[in-house]
Amino acid sequence: TKNQIGVLGLSTMGKNISINFMNRGFKVAGFNRTYHVTEEMMEEGYENFQGFENLNDFIDSLEKPRKVLLMIKAGEAIDETCVQLMGMLEEGDIVMDGGNSYFKDTIRRHGYMKDKKINYLGIGISGGEKGARNGPSIMPGGNREVVEEVLPFLNAIAAKKDGEPCCTYIGPNGAGHYVKMVHNGIEYADMQLLAESYLLLKKVGHFTNSEMALVFESWNQTALKSYLVEITAKILREKDEITGLELLDFIVDRASQKGTGKWTSMETLEQDQNTSLIGAAVLARVTSNFTELKEAYGSLFDEPMTKEVNPYVFQEEVRKAYYLGKIVAYAQGFALMKDASKRYDWNLDLGKIASIFRAGCIIQADLLQVIMKSYEDNQDLENLLLDEEIIKIVRRNIQSLRVVSSLAIRGGVPSPVLTSAMTYLDQLRSRSVGANLIQAQRDFFGAHTFERIDQEGINHHEWEK
Ligand code: NDP
Repeated sequence: TKNQIGVLGLSTMGKNISINFMNRGFKVAGFNRTYHVTEEMMEEGYENFQGFENLNDFIDSLEKPRKVLLMIKAGEAIDETCVQLMGMLEEGDIVMDGGNSYFKDTIRRHGYMKDKKINYLGIGISGGEKGARNGPSIMPGGNREVVEEVLPFLNAIAAKKDGEPCCTYIGPNGAGHYVKMVHNGIEYADMQLLAESYLLLKKVGHFTNSEMALVFESWNQTALKSYLVEITAKILREKDEITGLELLDFIVDRASQKGTGKWTSMETLEQDQNTSLIGAAVLARVTSNFTELKEAYGSLFDEPMTKEVNPYVFQEEVRKAYYLGKIVAYAQGFALMKDASKRYDWNLDLGKIASIFRAGCIIQADLLQVIMKSYEDNQDLENLLLDEEIIKIVRRNIQSLRVVSSLAIRGGVPSPVLTSAMTYLDQLRSRSVGANLIQAQRDFFGAHTFERIDQEGINHHEWEK
């Protein structure tokens, strides 16, 4: 009998997704460019797995219409593989790209595969290695009928929340990969918010790692319950095998990245939207790598004196500041998706998107339940920050965000994302943002005109008579 699905690329993600398919009873064909990777998997002796050295044989082993899931490195590798597959697949076959591809590449590939009558889907998959194996969150984009053909496969392997699979049709062509990109952008902001909370607790609150582990564990018992908070507590407790001390203190203070946060920021600028928290998080990772400059600068200035704080009160303030920072990060990310939905005519269902983020993926969090409900109650909600429930949360926490932001600045604890959250809320809340001066400057040097508050129409002033 033929295999039901082919997984092309058997590295971390492909291997684990294959195992997930097999655990749900599917017969899987596997192919990897470097054959020994396939051989290693065959040696593990999975009953429903058939590995291939030759790409043609792999394709021939599949039930029609053939379903091939690409789990390979994003970028040129996908185009190279698509070109190869085009010569082997037939009309009606389905190629799914499950990697972190740039959504505009997906739109382009969707176009050229369509010319060959091959169905192409761009599928966002989140959950890392464990998610891939036990149930990721899945964001399929492409032609709706084609997605429906593969939904039984995707639903079977997806994470489940309240019995429902964390997988839903997202929208045409690049929509799935776009949503995955924004998911990752939010992930960048949330990770950085946690890093800043950690640094503040350590530098201002003088908490030890194990005390901080307790703090994050306690947060995880509140509305802040999430995968990232949970793993942060675990990381703070982990002991180093070499020294027996806490491992975190031995990890170099530099973070790397693969690009999805940067793409989100680039799209934001392209769309005239504001995801300042995601942008600040990307730049924080970039700046963490300015090793020599940091070294040189660090020896030039003293640490500012920090004020004594009551640790119990302070950790509660930081919790509230984090809570609000997280809300702003999500609000900005969802506003970006809302704009993309209009711009690309994707008709994104933001409530459904929130619902499939509730399990399986890296940003899974109880807060998503609130976000899901906001959009379910009001499909046309312009911005999450205008939802009544969210307004209540903002009211309850804004003063803490203000206090923590100023303590961070006074104490010299770099907190670019927390302070960006505060700034963004102030930009929205404060009725004057100083843009009248900007517009006057523009009119001064470039005759760019301005509007008046007391009259209709466009004005220009001769500033230097
Ligand atoms: P990698 O991104 O590290 O890619 C390695 C795989 O790509 C190998 O199977 C490799 O084959 C294959 N490959 C590279 N270049 C080519 C090429 N030109 N032609 C054919 N195959 C090629 O693997 P991961 O498993 O980490 O990720 C797979 C995809 O899933 C990526 O797009 C990634 O961004 C995405 N993803 C990863 C997550 C993670 O947590 N790792 C989470 C969510 C998505 P070979 O063995 O021959 O080198």
